[in-house]
Amino acid sequence: MKPLGPIPAGYSAIEGELAIGGRQASALAEEAGGTPLFVYSRQHIRRRVEELRTAMPERLAIHYAVKANPFAPLLREMRGLVDGFDIASGGELELVLAQGIDASGVSFAGPGKRDGELEQAIAAGVTLNLESEAEAERALAIADRLGATPRLAIRVNPDFELRGSGMKMGGGAKPFGLDTDRVVPLAQRIIAAGAQWRGLHIFAGSQSLDADAIIETQGNILDLAGRLAEETGVKLPHLNMGGGFGIPYFNGDQALDMGVIGEALKARFESLPASMVQTEFAIELGRYLVGEAGVYLTRILDRKESHGQIFLVTDGGLHHQLAASGNFGTVVRRNYPLAIATRFADPPAEEASVVGCLCTPLDRLADQAELPKADIGDLVAVFCAGAYGASASPSAFLGQGPALEILV
Ligand SMILES: *Cc1c(COP(=O)(O)O)cnc(C)c1O
Repeated sequence: MKPLGPIPAGYSAIEGELAIGGRQASALAEEAGGTPLFVYSRQHIRRRVEELRTAMPERLAIHYAVKANPFAPLLREMRGLVDGFDIASGGELELVLAQGIDASGVSFAGPGKRDGELEQAIAAGVTLNLESEAEAERALAIADRLGATPRLAIRVNPDFELRGSGMKMGGGAKPFGLDTDRVVPLAQRIIAAGAQWRGLHIFAGSQSLDADAIIETQGNILDLAGRLAEETGVKLPHLNMGGGFGIPYFNGDQALDMGVIGEALKARFESLPASMVQTEFAIELGRYLVGEAGVYLTRILDRKESHGQIFLVTDGGLHHQLAASGNFGTVVRRNYPLAIATRFADPPAEEASVVGCLCTPLDRLADQAELPKADIGDLVAVFCAGAYGASASPSAFLGQGPALEILV
């Protein structure tokens, strides 16, 4: 037997069946037109944002990192909940603008921005988080040609990284941002060129469940930003402090205590250097805001036995749930939280593996898990499916195509 990850708070049974946003899984699948299906819960997202605002200092803006989940109805929902959006491509820019999201709260990071994307962003009034000197020069030239004043910030590659972070994106040689010793000359160049200086973006890691590490990293980010602002000789208008707040996926993972992180940040905000007294601060979060609000529903097509092991074969798989299958940035495969949705109130009765319909041994949603006895027609729920699911999985693999998605 291999343990399953912890089912997030806020999910319960109605008449024995998993309910999402107060509706039974089978009714949701029927309404959406079948399975595989991603269901995202408004209620869950709202509660998450509210709790975060309560814990964090009031002056800290909360931004949503669109790459976690770009589903249009979810973006519209987020529009009313968060203070800004972080995007990483021209495609994401089109998505946010199409939802009526105010461009002045949008920032665009990511290496390898094309000229067309820079132009689109500058014309819309989006802030560019510049990843290199060459990108800065291209942006300035494009703005000149357009007769526009670009809003420019610099992404910094910090010398530290978020300890215990799932995906390391700072520290050492990186394709992201400018090394710290190159930031001040470029900031001065941007300001001298007449651009609107929008300050710094410092992202040091992702998926951390270590509150002490997050507090330490936020302290390092504030120290670094203060030093760079002082050396630039201009008050820092804006600081995007990154995010990196993780969610529990695996057995033994503990949820973050937002209270202690918020208190530490409040204390830091009370002793800011002169260069940052008026700075606007933001954090950018994807997974933490929407990850636990999503459930992936897939139907059991076959139940079979091989060498004494039971396999539940579903109509979904890694083509929608690459991360849950263990093939998206993990070294050792461990089980995500998963349940038989149509027998949610039943106790475990057997050991079974849940696999997808792809003809590859990689396609496994749960390995030797303890589950209620399930049969053909039952629905399987994979939790923590709200972030890096639908849009971060190879849905064209084996000609399967995308899953359905609904926001309830
Ligand atoms: C991916 C990414 C995020 C979001 O990370 P989460 O782990 O989903 O919160 C935020 N900022 C940047 C720069 C990113 O690349």
